[in-house]
Amino acid sequence: MSESTTKAAVLVRYQEPLEIREYPTPTEVGAGEALVRVDAAGICGTDVHLWKGELKIPVPVILGHETVGRIQELGDGLQTDWRGTPLAVGDRVTWASSIVCGECYYCRIKRQPTRCVGRRAYGISYCANDAPHLRGGYAQHILLRAGTAIFRVPDAVTSESVVGAGCGLTTALHGLERMPVTLDDIVVVQGVGPVGMAAVAIAYLSGASKVVAIGGPSHRLEQARAFGASDTIDIAQANTVEARHKAVMDLTGGFGADMVIECVGHPAAVPEGLELCRDGGSYLVLGQYADAGNISFNPHTITRKQLRLAGSWGFEPRHVDRALRLLENPKYHELFKSQVTHRFPLEKANEALETVRNLQSGKALIVPND
Ligand SMILES: [Zn+2]
Ligand SMILES: [Zn+2]
Repeated sequence: MSESTTKAAVLVRYQEPLEIREYPTPTEVGAGEALVRVDAAGICGTDVHLWKGELKIPVPVILGHETVGRIQELGDGLQTDWRGTPLAVGDRVTWASSIVCGECYYCRIKRQPTRCVGRRAYGISYCANDAPHLRGGYAQHILLRAGTAIFRVPDAVTSESVVGAGCGLTTALHGLERMPVTLDDIVVVQGVGPVGMAAVAIAYLSGASKVVAIGGPSHRLEQARAFGASDTIDIAQANTVEARHKAVMDLTGGFGADMVIECVGHPAAVPEGLELCRDGGSYLVLGQYADAGNISFNPHTITRKQLRLAGSWGFEPRHVDRALRLLENPKYHELFKSQVTHRFPLEKANEALETVRNLQSGKALIVPND
């Protein structure tokens, strides 16, 4: 079944259509490496930012950092996955999108591995011109480097649910570990995209007494309720900063939320969110992954309200482990699976990106081998 060439959708120039290119399918798999035949690759909002050129990457790049596939060949020495589960050819796997060096100042001394100076992510930081080329999910095969945190996907967990949860879930797990919800907290989540939906779920499961989701359109807010939101604020109705502020104050006895989680990505969400916190509350900025520009605000708010602020970048392999365990819960398995609304063959990768850019989809995925 091993084809001699592998098709991939490649970002060659920012803001221009991805090109379908062919690369040799590796015939030799080195020690510790794994050749994976891709089942499904998720289109992350970050992919749209990368395509627009909002984060500099070494183009041409095969995009795709949320991927599930089947092991086609295993290199010497690779006998178990990251959790110690035996690995065999034919197993369905996913993996942490980044590999860190383990040796730098951030990895070793400050324990901030997501800021590793040598961190490289599949689908983002590998130039497709460099052999072995296949380092992104928008392709029929991907060659995983030795040292990749690979996870055998439990049989009960579908590929759709893994990609439906995507890096939104792991990103939210990492962020909420850095700034956890405390039992009984009133939590406001700004934004109901993939990160916001996951943040709603984790806040609810962490024991929040109320989870208020702000966003739209209305069907996304309905889903947010299924994920654990007790209340929702529709930005189509509460369409001003003042209206949303009033709605949150009405739900919090006039004081504001114990914790607000930003999952919007638009810079204007941040000064708005700071004002939604109660005095002495916490603000977690999760959504500003791309550099979307400056915003002016009055920092007096932070001092006067005695706010705690936190940022969070990416995630570690253990968050993939936790995400997979959450997906073994039948309720969340179905909810995250239901996030997948669109599927595209590899040749329609541009249509897939457009769908996500226009916010038409819950989650879109590419199925390159169908
Ligand atoms: Zn992503
Ligand atoms: Zn490092």
